[in-house]
Parts: sequence; structure tokens; C-alpha cells
Amino acid sequence: MMMTMMTQTVGYPHIGKNRELKRALEGYWKGALDAEALSVTFRQVEEEGWCTQRDAGIDAIGVGDATLYDAVLDWSLRLGLVSERFAALEGLDRLFAMARGAAGIPALDMTKWFDTNYHYLVPEIEAGARPTANFGDFLATVRRAQALLGERAVPILLGPVTFLRLARLAVPFDAMLAQLLPLYVELLTALKALGVPEVQLHEPALILPDSGSYRSQTETAVAALAAVGLPLNLVIPFDDIGESFSWIAALPVAGLTLDFTRGETAALLERYGWPAGKFLAAGSVDGRNIWRLRGAEVLPQLRSLMPVAPLRISASCSLQHVPYSAAREMALPAPLRNVLAFAEEKLHELAALRDTLVGGVAWDDSPWAEFRAFAPEDVALRARQAALDTGDFSRAEAYPARRAQQVALPPFPLTTIGSFPQTDAVRQLRARFKRGELSEAAYRAGVDSWIAYTIGVQEGLDFDVLVHGEFERSDMVEYFAENLTGFAFTQHGWVQSFGSRYVRPPIIYADVSRPAPMTVREFKVAQSFTSKPIKGMLTGPVTILNWSFPRTDLPRREVAFQLALALRDEIADLERAGARIIQVDEPALREGLPYKSDRRAAYVAWAVDAFRLATAGAASATQIHTHMCYAEFGEILPAIDGLDADVISLENARSDDETLRALAEYGYAREVGPGVYDIHSPVVPDEAFILEKLRTFRLHLADAQLWVNPDCGLKTRAWAEVLPALRAMVAAVRQLRAEL
Ligand code: GLN
Ligand code: ZN
Repeated sequence: MMMTMMTQTVGYPHIGKNRELKRALEGYWKGALDAEALSVTFRQVEEEGWCTQRDAGIDAIGVGDATLYDAVLDWSLRLGLVSERFAALEGLDRLFAMARGAAGIPALDMTKWFDTNYHYLVPEIEAGARPTANFGDFLATVRRAQALLGERAVPILLGPVTFLRLARLAVPFDAMLAQLLPLYVELLTALKALGVPEVQLHEPALILPDSGSYRSQTETAVAALAAVGLPLNLVIPFDDIGESFSWIAALPVAGLTLDFTRGETAALLERYGWPAGKFLAAGSVDGRNIWRLRGAEVLPQLRSLMPVAPLRISASCSLQHVPYSAAREMALPAPLRNVLAFAEEKLHELAALRDTLVGGVAWDDSPWAEFRAFAPEDVALRARQAALDTGDFSRAEAYPARRAQQVALPPFPLTTIGSFPQTDAVRQLRARFKRGELSEAAYRAGVDSWIAYTIGVQEGLDFDVLVHGEFERSDMVEYFAENLTGFAFTQHGWVQSFGSRYVRPPIIYADVSRPAPMTVREFKVAQSFTSKPIKGMLTGPVTILNWSFPRTDLPRREVAFQLALALRDEIADLERAGARIIQVDEPALREGLPYKSDRRAAYVAWAVDAFRLATAGAASATQIHTHMCYAEFGEILPAIDGLDADVISLENARSDDETLRALAEYGYAREVGPGVYDIHSPVVPDEAFILEKLRTFRLHLADAQLWVNPDCGLKTRAWAEVLPALRAMVAAVRQLRAEL
């Protein structure tokens, strides 16, 4: 009998190769497109993705994951879990109100989808919620898929355990699960009647370190679904499943899809053995990075699994986290392009792995050899890295001694986080320069006039520490990436961040260094307009790394250190240009945190080291700020303390002063600027609101520790919102100072 091996996918990009869905959505929101036209575009994009997968020879193609806005939101709707405030709305109005809010109706909360850069809408389950089945759209999708793909179409279901785990629940988990299971059974029964060969039950929540605490719920759920008699493929992406392997492998499913690109999946398999009678879909093609698979690294493992389990080859997770096609990136040098693998190339890798494993076709790693010749190591940089010692990671003096030498400021110093409104005019300016319609001199003059205006505003308002406004930056990572070596940029490499918002992360492909100062010119321009201190503004090494597609041939720690050295040199140049205060933003520090505690410590250690390497060269008299914008950072407080930043500004407005309590409890000793208002909301705060905030801050932190600033940068807001908000901040601080 001929050996065969199935290939499978567990999700595919669905934004359109040319961002068709974004255009259609935005057209619909503006009223330029009707619902039917939107739906036509949606189906075209979805079907094109299916056909690409079919034509690449994928045997089991996950379907039903494409979405107008967010797949988790789709499941809230399919399960009829719609909060009261949306109840009066119907159809697309309801969907988009839940996604984006509507007049007077706040949207669902949005948060990161596991440790990806995708954001989903948090299901809300109110007290008294009664789930109801609305599976019509899903079943219709599956029928369309069957028409094009036949037996290859495999419906993707978001599993009930993950759905409830991620939901905001006002009812007990178990009670709601008991209500949901009959609906899932109804859906599976309908799918069985359609004749699908199996379904994928996606349960990524089973990677979470506390998955053992909902073992019995998972067992109950899977047993109920398995009873329908349709084979279940339990898909668990993003990490290994840890000690829960023992009971997860025993669940009554036909097979499991596990992630072999992260964590210790292979070791767990060896330790626990593979259960008889189940297939193993090995997620060996990394759905999270954009690099061509190195056969030498993956094939031996797959070969060793072949005698252990009936094997399939799978993507490690949905390919929606990578762009469509590297082959289109003709502006990239061929040696680089040839080692990139986006979604389409990954489909071919799945097929090529199968052909190598069961067809004896030789695997070709030669593009990597060519790439290494194209992107050699930076010898001087490597020597500098090798020579680093502990002294390079510590400021010369401890915080109290430094503080005494740093700028003297009034109590409750007023500042902002860096960016000011990125108006159409500002975006136009950058776009025209990029298109070559504006000379460099004209462009710079344009940026400088915005800097001048912004300084004037801050002077007029009587802020204490001023910023230049970041008008030259389209994005806080891209700007630095463009000014460093070792980064490449795609033309079409968009991935969905949320809804119709797509990002095009830069690719770190080689050693990173800084050919010239990156921010000194704008700093000097800003400082020339005022005698108040201008805050130098940099993006931190960990954030640049976490918001790029990193290279995989060098440990992330080493890449972070290369970025840190570039920033260290930038800080030295800023100091020479007269900067007394420099902020190094690390909003993405926390999101790099691995799920498993043993890997957490290592990450935190090098992430903190990278920040310290970037900043420790600063003179004692230079005040180093950092900025982070997220709540729930209690667990990384020791890491934040370890950064040894003189001042930290933090998101606070949306976290009910949780942040403050955590800092106080921890005994945080340096200066802190908890955000006084939420810049994500269009609501403009007044003086009373801010005064109230400041009074609460004082309950938790000493006056001498407190700074006054918004939650984050102001780039997404309009001047008409920013000006009154900043005025209210100033008035509140004046009031407070008068009371002192
Ligand atoms: N300095 C950046 C800004 O103000 C910080 C943005 C962020 O933390 N995401 O825009
Ligand atoms: Zn921020």
C-alpha cells in the first residue's frame, strides 16, 4: 500500500490580497457600499483563500474562520450572546455596534488574542443571558466551501471552553457551559448531516498554564460533542499544553493538532507517549513567523514521530497571522525574498514536507545558504556584543544620587507621552514626501512647523516637560526600523490587527545597527523654540522587536541587545545635543511574556537587560523615562522596577487605579505618571475629573513621586479634543499646587 500523509490548515488570511475587505468595510461604514456589495467582496476573498489552499494540495482545509470583523464576535452572535444594549439592533448594525460601538452604545472590549498581535472582541455574558442558536450563516458557509472543496472542507469551531474562558461572565462558567453544549451539539448534528468528514474544535485556551483547573469542564464538553459521532480534531495552537497533556490526550477525539513550533510539545509527547487510535496533526509549519522552513530543523522530528502516531502535517496555527504571499514582494532582494514564507509559501511547505517524508523528494535548504552570503554578520557589532559586561547594564549611580542631579521641576510636573494629533495634514505631508512629490527640505520645513506649533501650545499651556510631537513618525516602530540597518519592508505584507485595521510589521533579517542619529534633528528643532526641557523620545528595544517579524537564526535576546546598542548610541547623541530628559517607550514589553512560568523568568531577564543596556550609558543627570500602556501589570512589577527608569508613565484610566494599588503595595520608590485620562475615548475630561484622579493618586503614592500626564500618546485624537483636555490637566495641577 502506498504511504500517504495528510496536510491540513487551521485558518487562512481573509482580509484580501489587496486589502479588499478593508476597502469594502470602510466603504460600507461611509455609506458608499451596500450590505450586498460588502458580502460579495467578503465571499470572494474567502473563496479565493479556499481555492488557493485546494490548489496547493491541502487535504483538510479549515473553513468558517473568515469574518467581517472578528471571529470571536461571530461566535458571540452565533450563540445568541448579545448584551442588552445591542438588543434593539439587528443584522450588520448589531454586529458593527458590538465591534465599534454606536451612538451612545459602547462597543465590546477588545484585547489581544493570546500572544499574537491580533485583537478579538471579548464576549460579554450578562446575568440571565439565554444563548440561542444562529448557525444559518455558518452552515451556509460550509455548504459553499463543500461546493468548492468537497471532502477537503473542514469546519472550524471555536470551542466552548475557550469561548467561555475568554468571555466576561456575569454567570457561573459551569451553568453557561451547560446551556451552550446543546447548541454545539445542534451545530455538530447539522454539520454531520452535511457530510463533512470532521470538524476542527479550536481550544487555544488549553495552552494556558491553569488549564488543569478546567479539566472537568473540558472533559464534559468534549464528551458531549463527541457523542454526535462526527470526528473531532482538537486544535490547540500557540504553545505546548504542559502537564495537561496527560488528560487532554485522553479526550474522546479523533485526533489532536499540537503546536510544534513553540514550547515543549515534542518532549511532552516523549514523556507521556501518544494515545492509541488518535491521529497527531503536527503543527510544524510556523504560522507566526514569515521565514522559509529549514528542513534540517524540522524533518528529523517529523521522521521520529512517524512510527509513533498516524501523522498529519499542519500549520501551527491559523495563517492569518502572516501576510498572503512573499512571491509578490518584488522590491525585496531575491536572496531575502527566497527565504521568506508567507501564507501561500507555507501551503507549499506543507505539501513539500509530505513529499519529502513519504515521497522521498529531497528538501531544498539552499536558499538559506545564499541568504547567509547576502546578509553576513556585522563583525564589529558582534565584537561589541561579545565584549559587554555587567557594568554596561547599570547606570553609574543609584536612583537617589541621580535624582539630585536631574532637572528641577515644580511639584506634579506636567507632561505628555510624546505624540500630538496626526492630522490629515500631517499624514499628507509624510505621504507626499514618500511619493517624491516634496523635496527633503520642504518636508523637513513642514515637520518643523508642526513642531513649532506644538511647542507653542505646550508653552502656552504651561507644561513643564515638552515633547516635539512625533510628526515625522508614521509609527513608533516603523520610524526606527527605517533608520536602522537589518530591517526590510514589504509592499503587501499586511496582517490584521483588528477589524479593518491592518499592520505591516517590518522584518528584521540581519544584524541591526544605526548608521546615523535618528531623532536628534527634531529634538534640536523643538529645543530651539523653548527654554523648557524637551523630552527626547525613543521606542525601546523590546517593543521594536516584539512589533516586528524577528529573524529566527539569532536568539531574540541577541537581537534585542543589538537594538539596545543602537538606542544607547542615540541616547548619547541626544545628550550631546542637550537633552536632559529622554523617554524610552516599552509598551510591548509585557506582551512578549511567555505563558509558561519557567520561560517567563528568562524572557523578563533579557527584556529588562535590553532596556538597561539601552539606557545605562546615560549620565546620572539625564532623567530616563519609560512608558507602558496596559493594565494588569502587577505580575511584572519586579521587572518594571528592574528597568531602573527614573520616571515611568503608565496606563491607568481604564484600570480603576489597580495600577496605583499595585505600585503602592510593591513599595515602588521612583517617580510615576499614572495616566489621568483615557486617550482612547473621545470623551474630553474636565478639571474636576482630573483633580479627582490626582487626589486618588495621592492616596497611593507620595507627592514627590507624582507626574501628571495622559494615558498614552495623543496621535489618534483631534486638536479640538487635545486642547481642552490639556487645559483641564493644567487647571487641576494649578489647583493642587495651590493647596500644597
Ligand atoms: N511615545 C509614543 C506616543 O506618544 C508612545 C505610544 C505608545 O505607548 N503606544 O505615541
Ligand atoms: Zn502608550
